[in-house]
Amino acid sequence: MITLNQRRVEASGTLLETCRAAGIPIAALCYDQRLSVGGHCRSCLVEADGRYVAACSTPALDGMSVLTDSAELAAYRRDLGELMLAESAPLGSVEAELSAWGTTGQHYASRRQTAPVDTSHPYLRIDLARCIVCRLCERACAEVQGQFVYAFEGRGAGAHLAWGVEKFADSDCVGCGACVAICPTHALSDVDCEREPANARSVRTTCGYCGVGCQLEVHVDADRVARIEGAHDAAVNRGHLCVKGRYAHAFARHRERLTAPLIRRNGRLEPASWDEAIGLVAGEFLRLRAFSAGLSSSRCTNEENYLFQKWFRAGLGTNNVDCCARVCHAPSAAGMRASFGTGAATNSFADIEGADLLLIVGANVTEAHPIVGARIKQAALRGATLIVIDPRNTEIAAMADLHLQVRPGANVPLFNSLACAIVEAGLVNRAFINDRVEGWDTYEPLIRRQAPEAVAALTGVAPAIVREAARRYATARSPMMFHGLGVTEHYQGSESVSLLCNLAILTGALGRAGVGVNPLRGQNNVQGAADMGCDPGFLPGYQSVDDAVARAKFESAWGRVLPAHRGLTIPEMHEAARRGELRAMYIFGEDVAQTDPDSGQTVKALKNLEFLVVQELFLSETAKLAHVVLPGASFLEKNGTFTNGERRIQRVRAALTPLAGTRPDLEIIEALMAATGLPQAAASPSGVMDEIAGLTPIYAGVSYARLESDGLQWPVPSPDHSGTPILYETTFARGRARLACVEFRPSPSFGASLGLITGRVLEHYNAGTMTRRSPNLRLRPTDELEIHPRDAAARGIKDGARVRLRSVSGEAHATARLTDRVSPGVVFLSFHDPATTANSVTGDVRDRLTDCPEYKLTAVEVEPSEH
Ligand code: SF4
Ligand code: SF4
Repeated sequence: MITLNQRRVEASGTLLETCRAAGIPIAALCYDQRLSVGGHCRSCLVEADGRYVAACSTPALDGMSVLTDSAELAAYRRDLGELMLAESAPLGSVEAELSAWGTTGQHYASRRQTAPVDTSHPYLRIDLARCIVCRLCERACAEVQGQFVYAFEGRGAGAHLAWGVEKFADSDCVGCGACVAICPTHALSDVDCEREPANARSVRTTCGYCGVGCQLEVHVDADRVARIEGAHDAAVNRGHLCVKGRYAHAFARHRERLTAPLIRRNGRLEPASWDEAIGLVAGEFLRLRAFSAGLSSSRCTNEENYLFQKWFRAGLGTNNVDCCARVCHAPSAAGMRASFGTGAATNSFADIEGADLLLIVGANVTEAHPIVGARIKQAALRGATLIVIDPRNTEIAAMADLHLQVRPGANVPLFNSLACAIVEAGLVNRAFINDRVEGWDTYEPLIRRQAPEAVAALTGVAPAIVREAARRYATARSPMMFHGLGVTEHYQGSESVSLLCNLAILTGALGRAGVGVNPLRGQNNVQGAADMGCDPGFLPGYQSVDDAVARAKFESAWGRVLPAHRGLTIPEMHEAARRGELRAMYIFGEDVAQTDPDSGQTVKALKNLEFLVVQELFLSETAKLAHVVLPGASFLEKNGTFTNGERRIQRVRAALTPLAGTRPDLEIIEALMAATGLPQAAASPSGVMDEIAGLTPIYAGVSYARLESDGLQWPVPSPDHSGTPILYETTFARGRARLACVEFRPSPSFGASLGLITGRVLEHYNAGTMTRRSPNLRLRPTDELEIHPRDAAARGIKDGARVRLRSVSGEAHATARLTDRVSPGVVFLSFHDPATTANSVTGDVRDRLTDCPEYKLTAVEVEPSEH
């Protein structure tokens, strides 16, 4: 107990925390409970046992006598405020605080800084005249984002914020906005929203970019986004966002948005009424129903995806329905299902904080999943061991304790050799194997033949590093694994995922907090689209189409007989279209002409269709080929749910009204269902979710009322179940986990003199449809080809020069960037700019089990170009 202003109160933590717990307001201008204590501003000075101390950094000790409200302290704060006003002109919460202290700004002569306002960055505005040197921005950048952009230079009254280069835009800033969000003076502000508009309202929703699923607070003024901040109480992102989620929202009101249905007449797409367009699409799909297929959208909500596959299955009578999980994480689902029985992340993002080792495999996590990346960086900075397996020296690889720079295409021998090293070192968790695993007796002799030394020539990784990585993983208290498309988008993608599962099985790193196997899902709702049955082989909830009992349940609910045989995957759809066997296709929110591999062949397939419908926000490369284009709504304009990469089902809430002329996608699909004789009874998003819950055991306990705060992680088997943050605590979905025995089968491109890896960069998302219609374009105008200086010199290529890539499939053009982020023999290219035509080069090699394309290895040649 302490005596606080003559009151006896419980001591807890620091004096500041004790005061606040006791309801005593106390200023602390440089304090934020998410950050380390700064103790810079001295605004929280209190009198403790006769001495003046900073409450934020002084522990509350039993028996202390503390005063916060003496006349001396009030005078001290007033004087502190006067000094601040002599040196700065703060706005925001500090302006209000100083006013409450009775400061006037008249007391001392002004010594304010005169540096010009920096507006060089597309999103951040820096006005040092408002800075009070509280250093919150410096700590937020370091401790939330792990970026260390800021330092304070000078001393005393001359201390000022610095970022190492003249213009802020040239600094190492990644545009996360954490510093802006925390700045209490508006010294740092959003460039186009220095002050909150008076009438702004806030809507909480889920980010529409990547599968992390950050929660947004969208501030809306006059039906436009004024600014976006991270929801502070969100489990996923705890107030933090990346440059896409926080800033890249201009696309929603971009002048290129489609605002009317388009119908092709005489070779040209012309505006049409909704009635005419819906009638035409319904009529043509009824006519061609036996030869039709649908590609659903991982950008769109669970409810929209559910109705899309329902329409195809029950309305048109075909299982030819797939989604972009096919081209990214279908191998994760298949590989994990084979090992554990369920094909989804075993654990939660929050577990990162409890892990003492993080193994990141084939994932450029700080660029592709930035908030998970920031959490992993923070864990590493706090002392967790970081092991990265990646052919590229990415940001996270450069931070790692061990970087296994594997040769592209050699994942299978490398993962097997890690397992071999665990077995040989006697580090197998035999109790776990005995209790919960099958296949050990077959597996052990086979894996002992995969020693790191035996496969080093294939993998390119020194055996000593492999053995050290294996030792550290197997001896860690809580080793947590994340993997990305560098594992799945390969010829043996599914089998590679199973081999990663083997590592967790061998060490018993499953079924508890801080461990597991966790695929980093790509698009915002790729997990949900797969959950909803946008797969030719599965009804919602991964219930097989050839399971007669499951089928009967859906037939009873939907009132139609359903097809019993598996439908076509995306690559099979394209092949069937090229052969003329598939005649109608409906592509919902995907730009396959730009993002699918071997795009020359994709375009040929689309052009061969008798009838192509595209539902989109913009006239994408795919939409340009359509017979009918239907303008949908963006995630900022509709209601529903997304399911993120940790199986968390979260609400999507409309912040804006749909742009005039567009319709929410759910309404478009419902109109088509009605026009083709399958009217949807429960038409609202929440009604559709109730229908989903009734038919999908893993969503059985989900309803909108239960998703209000942080959502629920499936399985949610009943309305009173609180969700499942950790899978397999007591048993695996298939009973016992299975150890996979996998032999290496090299991809046709393995061993090429130059192997191309394609992937994403931080500033853009997939086809760039949204981010390229935002100021992110200024941050990264186009795609660049990363090439090692040695490979560049051998080909006469200079940094910044234009180059041509050639493969057996086609050619692409980009600007060369000479860098040792890639090894000799490896080049990297992103695919966000349609002008690059990156996927003209990628080929038709696919994962042996799921048809997922091998985006991560294509044999290419590179040469200087005038293009
Ligand atoms: S925006 Fe993010 S990365 Fe850039 S300076 Fe601020 S906190 Fe650091
Ligand atoms: S990490 Fe992903 S979900 Fe989060 S703000 Fe960035 S793009 Fe959105």
